[in-house]
Amino acid sequence: MATPTSRKKSAAKPTLDFGHAWDYAPAPESIPVGLKKRYDLFIGGKCVAPADGKYFASTNPATEKKLADIAAGTAKDVDRAVKAARKALGGPWGKMPAAERGKYLYRIARMLQERSRELAVLETMDGGKPIRESRDIDLPLAAAHFFYYAGWADKLAYAFPGRTPSPIGVAGQIIPWNFPLLMAAWKLAPALACGNTVVLKPAETTSITAIHLAEILADAGLPEGVVNIVTGAEQTGAAVVSHPDIDKIAFTGSTEVGKVIAKGLAGTRKRLTLELGGKAANIVMADAPLDQAVEGILNGIYFNQGHVCCAGSRLLVEESVAEAVVEKLTTRLRTLRVGDPLDKNTDVGAINSREQLARIRELVDSGVAEGAELTQASCPLPAKGYWFAPSFFTGVTASHRIAREEIFGPVLSILTFRTPEEAIERANNSPYGLSAGIWTDKGSKIFKMVHALKAGVVWANTYNKFDPTSPFGGYKESGFGREGGVHGLAPYVRL
Ligand code: ADP
Repeated sequence: MATPTSRKKSAAKPTLDFGHAWDYAPAPESIPVGLKKRYDLFIGGKCVAPADGKYFASTNPATEKKLADIAAGTAKDVDRAVKAARKALGGPWGKMPAAERGKYLYRIARMLQERSRELAVLETMDGGKPIRESRDIDLPLAAAHFFYYAGWADKLAYAFPGRTPSPIGVAGQIIPWNFPLLMAAWKLAPALACGNTVVLKPAETTSITAIHLAEILADAGLPEGVVNIVTGAEQTGAAVVSHPDIDKIAFTGSTEVGKVIAKGLAGTRKRLTLELGGKAANIVMADAPLDQAVEGILNGIYFNQGHVCCAGSRLLVEESVAEAVVEKLTTRLRTLRVGDPLDKNTDVGAINSREQLARIRELVDSGVAEGAELTQASCPLPAKGYWFAPSFFTGVTASHRIAREEIFGPVLSILTFRTPEEAIERANNSPYGLSAGIWTDKGSKIFKMVHALKAGVVWANTYNKFDPTSPFGGYKESGFGREGGVHGLAPYVRL
């Protein structure tokens, strides 16, 4: 059995030990996925080449092999997309009764379900997340968002009693790479339910499923121009933000880019919602069911490679059980399977890109240099691709960079506390406030702490659970505005 290795300042790097607690036979997911060689933009209901004819490669982060060429959308393409979206507002979409609009959303939801296996495989190939996650979380939730908001389309008056909601107009939506299809669904569904039209900009490393979603939209008969998808990198996103004929921007991504966008839009008529970074505290009280809490910790940070802005990347453990929790976590690290994301047995997949891996490594090195002790799973890592062994730091203080900065990788920082008050103070001691978790046997503690935690979402005795009926969004530098639930309609209506 392999033993996790630990590293302190000036200690030598651990040699990876390639043993495992047990071995399963490989179980790779393999269905024909219809991966194309080249993906164009989706504008006005059609796939069109980018204005200057340029494409960039999308690679599989688990193998470093190129998957496809993706169109690099320019400001000209964004302008074409905005014009198509504006035209659609004045066309059949704008005149359609709300109940009819809802039917399109139901149809899209059902088609997502029908094609979910294929889309899950594509998502995993393009993004590196384990098939278990894309199959069991991303795809069902993407369909659930369309189903949920389909129901709202003709009931908006009940969401805003005494008011008359009308669409805002053309929404520009910019999404990140951690949940490519789910983020698209998350943003498109409420916008369409409220009668808006959209220009969507996927993240440059994960554009493939967005274009497959475009096919579904076309197959569902959605009128042309209602949704336009312009792939590309930073400049394409910036062109969406600065386009004068866009009425609302919804952005999910880094706090850094969120600040740039907020500055750019200050003083304009455009509405803005931002869902940015996080440094969630997952709090384990001494009376918590520890085995269950340890599973929740794994779910909060390792099973998604830490690639979620709400990842429970700071573990706050009550001092009296800290040793027991660390021991259980160390034991559990041994059995985590890191590797082929298409294998159904895989727990931890690939890091999304070379750049992201470099960021994780830099921050982990800073943790070691600042004196925290690093423990890493001694699991075999594939020779090709971008990988980081699930890790945790003990001996962390609040001033360490690993305790303050978003790491977006499978790396946990463990801190301790003595009283619930101290736990709250430590949890809130962050520029972020997106999410938090509490593990305790006492309902009264949950109620008390939930109200004191400055976080948009607080999970109690569970972690990373999502539901389209529940609003999601942050405090402080984690952004503003809520997505999901009835709250998620507000950014898309004029009252
Ligand atoms: P992450 O750190 O999660 O990669 P980013 O904030 O860099 O997130 O990217 C999130 C999304 O924002 C991506 O689609 C990216 O292309 C886009 N983006 C990056 N820079 C800008 C910018 N200056 N303006 C608009 N969009 C941007």
